[in-house]
Amino acid sequence: QAKNKGKACSVVFESAAYLQSIAKFKSENELRAAIELEQFELHYQPIIKLADRQLVGFEALVRWQHPDKGMVAPGDFIPLAESTGLIIPIGWWVLRSACAQMVLWQQDRPKSKLAFISVNIAGKQFSQPYAGDIIAQILTETGLDPRCLKLEITESEIIENVNVVLSTAEKLKKLGVQLSMDDFGTGYSSLSYLHCLPVDTLKIDRSFVENIESNIHELELVKTIIKLAQVFNLDVVAEGIEREQQCDRLLELQCEYGQGYLFSKPLSLAEANNLLESVNN
Ligand code: C2E
Ligand code: MG
Ligand code: MG
Ligand code: MG
Repeated sequence: QAKNKGKACSVVFESAAYLQSIAKFKSENELRAAIELEQFELHYQPIIKLADRQLVGFEALVRWQHPDKGMVAPGDFIPLAESTGLIIPIGWWVLRSACAQMVLWQQDRPKSKLAFISVNIAGKQFSQPYAGDIIAQILTETGLDPRCLKLEITESEIIENVNVVLSTAEKLKKLGVQLSMDDFGTGYSSLSYLHCLPVDTLKIDRSFVENIESNIHELELVKTIIKLAQVFNLDVVAEGIEREQQCDRLLELQCEYGQGYLFSKPLSLAEANNLLESVNN
């Protein structure tokens, strides 16, 4: 009896796992089709100078316009894209589109103070053997000045592939491309890599900024990250600023740049164009 029961359970379990693998296969195929059909689009979140709230750059953030589900956020497909390797074609599409858009903005607004476009690069993509050459080729094809491109790579991904990342990073440095360490503080051994990686910017993760007005430990932590950045002569961007009080604290700590819903959510292309128009930037 008990044995039978056990067997039944394992059948149920197996079929659940089976269904799950079918579901994964289905979404993988959907994601593959999405690349073919170019169902992705970029949104652009302003990065601003905290002191005067001037727009200095945009971070390009990918979205999937799914035919049935509507707009799918990156959190809901980037993990699958990473585990299947599809992040590589998606990621290069993102980079090419972001660079091309930045060139259009610069052509339309030659006096603009918009200095850079920031693009997220997955570790898997950045540690491809020819990543440096692909990036150089995209810059040449789109005509973007390499100094106007910032690549955001997360700390944990840098650490996983540190040697390959280092050689690609050095190649990019020679071109003039800038590098940002994204989600800074969420990794585990960041400090040891700061001095050997040619990073220009630290992005303080949202989780550290969240309770900066009420939590003294958080405030001290952010203060330390900002000091660290000063020691290494890096720019600092605080992520996820939602309230004026957070902005006030960050200004007191001499954090120069910020990004968050307080200033703007990620904008569609039309909205980003309107913003550029309205700030006459
Ligand atoms: P991230 O690079 O750290 O990007 C910042 C995320 O925080 C964005 O979420 C943005 O919408 C969100 N955010 C910005 N300000 C605020 C705020 O004030 N409050 C809150 N609660 N959230 C804020 P999004 O667009 O959903 O992207 C999530 C993550 O997906 C990104 O985190 C990045 O790691 C990844 N991602 C997005 N686009 C790409 C891409 O093209 N390639 C790769 N490899 N990853 C991407
Ligand atoms: Mg980012
Ligand atoms: Mg980030
Ligand atoms: Mg983050």
